Amino acid sequence: LVVLSNVNKHFGELHVLQDIDLTIGRGEVVVVIGPSGGGKSTLCRAINRLETIDSGEIFIDGKALPAEGRELAALRADVGMVFQSFNLFAHKTVLQNITLGQLKVRKKDKRAAEERARSLLERVGVASQADKYPAQLSGGQQQRVAIARALAMDPKVMLFDEPTSALDPEMINEVLEVMQQLARDGMTMAVVTHEMGFARSAANRVVFMADGRIVEEATPAQFFGDPRSDRARDFLSKIL
Ligand code: ATP
Ligand code: MG
Repeated sequence: LVVLSNVNKHFGELHVLQDIDLTIGRGEVVVVIGPSGGGKSTLCRAINRLETIDSGEIFIDGKALPAEGRELAALRADVGMVFQSFNLFAHKTVLQNITLGQLKVRKKDKRAAEERARSLLERVGVASQADKYPAQLSGGQQQRVAIARALAMDPKVMLFDEPTSALDPEMINEVLEVMQQLARDGMTMAVVTHEMGFARSAANRVVFMADGRIVEEATPAQFFGDPRSDRARDFLSKIL
């Protein structure tokens, strides 16, 4: 469903993505882990074209990611993204946060958009917060709203970039549970995270990224049990 082929990206002298080949199949959950500065966020942003690439190609559901314009907007709407900082619209209510894209991008009518929003809020467990503003919610609630907002666009794939890193410990699980459920429901997902428990239980595949390269790709059992590369071994010894 998502294919990256020989993708390269530089920030000045820094070769932040080096010959990246990665395929995410339909319904697959790929967890991306690796040391800070390795290029994980840049990879996510490239898939959504929030970042340009210097060479290579990215396909979403068979279509090459266009450079700009209306086609890009359409393709981007198929790729849901959830960031570490929840990025909700502060001056809109929870419900408005979730209806906005449906009205503007998907051209739904208000009633249909609100109905869908309420059912998504139910699904992520914050239905009672619909008329509040983001600042009135806990971090965990805000992040669940951000997930609902992304889902409201009916994306083909969801990208998560460290969705729980900014949360207090007691709120991490409520967000991970929503993500687990999404994975069980068959959503295609790429998740950058340091939550190794989530990686073990939800991932079909672990991608270990360091210094702009994919160093290792393996099943969670293989990766956590017996990593092939010294780099991954070293990384795991520091975090586990
Ligand atoms: P972390 O685990 O800390 O989030 P990461 O793996 O997500 O790290 P990236 O954020 O992709 O890493 O950054 C990779 C490298 O690119 C880093 O050295 C970073 O400083 C650099 N970088 C990222 N964005 C830019 C930018 N807009 N301009 C210049 N350099 C950048
Ligand atoms: Mg990052």
